[in-house]
Amino acid sequence: MSDPLLEALSQPTKRTGGHRCGVELARMALTDEQRNAVDAVIDEIRQHRLHGTPTRHTASGLARLLNEHGIPVNDKTMQAHIARRCRCD
Ligand SMILES: [Zn+2]
Repeated sequence: MSDPLLEALSQPTKRTGGHRCGVELARMALTDEQRNAVDAVIDEIRQHRLHGTPTRHTASGLARLLNEHGIPVNDKTMQAHIARRCRCD
């Protein structure tokens, strides 16, 4: 293929750390216990959005909380992950 744009479009985007969602990368930096707690919060936010059940954190709040604890996660990445619009699904 001689068109560099077409060639680039035909290939998966190269990312450091493989083809994983940013939230998945952040989860990998956590201990098992921390990961379970983060997963519980993510589930809680999903349930909140689906059923209006109480939630301790918002998606943005969770991203900010992780950032404050040295786990870099982009707000939009967290939003996409919770809405299942990321590469995990
Ligand atoms: Zn994800």
